[in-house]
Amino acid sequence: MHFRPALAALATIGLALPAMAHDQDEVIMLAGISAAFSAANLVGEPEIVDCTLSGGAQTHCLSLTVRPEPTGYVPGPWCPTSASDGPDVSGIWLHEGRVYDADGSFMGQLATLFDDPAWQMVDPETGKIAVTDTKEKCAAAARPDVGAEYANTCVECLPEYLDPDLTVTYVIPFEPVTAQAPSPTQQAGSGVAFNGIRLDAPAPVDAILGAYTIAPFDDCGGHINLFVGYHYHAATDCIETGADTAEDHAAPVGLAMDGHAIFPALTEDQATAAALDACFGHSSDGLGYHYHAGPAGGNAILGCLTAQYGCVLEKGAETCDASQRRGPPPRD
Ligand SMILES: [Zn+2]
Ligand SMILES: [Zn+2]
Repeated sequence: MHFRPALAALATIGLALPAMAHDQDEVIMLAGISAAFSAANLVGEPEIVDCTLSGGAQTHCLSLTVRPEPTGYVPGPWCPTSASDGPDVSGIWLHEGRVYDADGSFMGQLATLFDDPAWQMVDPETGKIAVTDTKEKCAAAARPDVGAEYANTCVECLPEYLDPDLTVTYVIPFEPVTAQAPSPTQQAGSGVAFNGIRLDAPAPVDAILGAYTIAPFDDCGGHINLFVGYHYHAATDCIETGADTAEDHAAPVGLAMDGHAIFPALTEDQATAAALDACFGHSSDGLGYHYHAGPAGGNAILGCLTAQYGCVLEKGAETCDASQRRGPPPRD
């Protein structure tokens, strides 16, 4: 069997993958992939489907449908409601490479942090913080072109606002196909974690901050919008599996939308030694080409996608043609 980078991810979780003919090989891989996603909130069984990738390649893809909510923990919290709320009842914010506790104290310091007196998230008289506390407000405010009436509002969407039938389908090539040039992650996101949660593109923080809003992430780097449900903008230890290591690498945490495996973040020194490319990928003996998630504070799980990517299909869409597909409107 010729080497396939995505197989390395499966090998590291202890699956023996015998050499077989192409399609049987994919069936075996499918079983391994199903095992890898055993902690995900799967809807039905993963399938092999025909797909057209972003660069026009027609190939076979893994199709995986999930409910976009984690099974291993309860998401949140996100917004503090008063200046005295501490980090235990608040999420985090990512700014210039740092992870901040987005607690009441942080919300009171935004004018200083962003050097802009128009920030006044904490009411100076009551100490209260305005929060999007209904589904309607979350729908209106959890988007980059939020209305001015939401200025100085902390934006959060709660799990109970989600359509109980909301599902997301990932269509990811079994075997990565070379692209003419790397692609930004904005179209299809970065990938999917093995717990079934979307590893998204960077949060559009400039648009969010430009509206004088903050949409914190929980301590796992996730938050909710009504379209894709709970999703990550940072890869944290919440998605590390603690499984066996391979090639001096911790176990992979998910699959990128181009079919390459994503491994946990490296320290700065390790990343320098690994000579990661702009997409945060590199090749190593035994693992082939793979990615390492960016550091949590960087608001980029991947820098870009090296190979042709597949699709994230929201409910109702059936087939993946990433070469034709125009993405959803920008949103957080
Ligand atoms: Zn590596
Ligand atoms: Zn988001």
